[in-house]
Amino acid sequence: MSEVANKNAALVTGASTGIGEATVRALRQEGWTVFAVARREERLAALEAETGAVGIPADITEDADVERLLADVTAAGGISTLVNIAGGARGADPIAQTRTGDWEWMYRVNVIGTMKLTRAFLPMLRENGEGTVLNLTSTAGLAAYEGGAGYNAAKFAQHAMTAALRLEEAEHNVRVIEVAPGLVHTEEFALNRLGGNQEAAAKIYQGVEKPLTAGDVADVIRYAVTAPHHVNLDQIVIRPVAQPANHKLIRKNV
Ligand code: NAP
Repeated sequence: MSEVANKNAALVTGASTGIGEATVRALRQEGWTVFAVARREERLAALEAETGAVGIPADITEDADVERLLADVTAAGGISTLVNIAGGARGADPIAQTRTGDWEWMYRVNVIGTMKLTRAFLPMLRENGEGTVLNLTSTAGLAAYEGGAGYNAAKFAQHAMTAALRLEEAEHNVRVIEVAPGLVHTEEFALNRLGGNQEAAAKIYQGVEKPLTAGDVADVIRYAVTAPHHVNLDQIVIRPVAQPANHKLIRKNV
């Protein structure tokens, strides 16, 4: 095998808020070079100023953006680690009332976007000698729930492609990690899912004393990608104690 190049450099998508932003902070604290990717330029600029990460605005579903991203990261020295966090949910309706556009959005970002970034960066990760791909899926990708069908379908798909990738890339010494969180209280996830309805979004977390935070998930990601490279944490399921299953969430005083 060729000598390992640029060991501690990651590209993190979804970096403008929530779990992605927290992951950029966590990896910068480890002294890693970090390329932070999302669409909102001003938020990336603030994170860049705060952490020293390199912000690169891009839409992961657009081929031209992905090509430009690859060129920029290559010119800046490349990466050993791709952390696919960008994604999300739209809608919580049963299939009888669901909107096609919501499903298209979810499939496009969670599945096609993850595929496009992974396909673009795989040659670099193979060439590195000790590459890592980490995909942020969800417990919604492991068990279905009422009102979850579109998000379930997208996250089950992302879970399946992660498993296929692990089998395909072992020969190239690229390890493939899946992190599947349960309820995480982030600023925008529920708000985006519920069409910007603040009240409905707040209800998701109502009475849940300690949902996971973005920082909790980022700590797990940090551990998984900084562990010795031969250690592959295939799949990590992380839930708050208050949510022992998708359908069981302990709420107090409600
Ligand atoms: P979030 O706060 O909604 O953040 C989503 C991130 O994805 C944002 O940074 C957004 O940035 C980026 N993004 C969306 N579409 C994009 C696109 N086309 N191109 C580039 N970036 C794009 O979500 P979160 O709560 O941190 O969750 C992050 C991931 O964890 C998602 O995949 C989500 O499905 C998953 N997850 C969340 C939870 C939860 O309860 N919160 C639980 C399990 C799994 P821009 O808008 O700036 O582009």
